[in-house]
Amino acid sequence: MYCQHCGAVISENVKFCTLCGGTQNKPSKTVPPDTNSPVSFSLKINDPAFAKYVKNTNRWSAIFAVILAVVSVTGFFIYGETGSEMENP
Ligand SMILES: [Zn+2]
Repeated sequence: MYCQHCGAVISENVKFCTLCGGTQNKPSKTVPPDTNSPVSFSLKINDPAFAKYVKNTNRWSAIFAVILAVVSVTGFFIYGETGSEMENP
């Protein structure tokens, strides 16, 4: 990497430049969010209407999962009772 003060080539993860002695701030690993970036979340994600929509979606997915579980269990049970593929000994 390069010194932030004099631009000399110095080794990585050093706190001071070997040439000018200037302190080196550690480069931040997390990139700050670019609001102008086209790849980003919409600002509508914080909208209360969107939160309500997500809440309703989660509720309906839970209801659908319960219905699917009940239908599959009862359906296999009914098929097992009425089907003649495999007889109970
Ligand atoms: Zn330097």
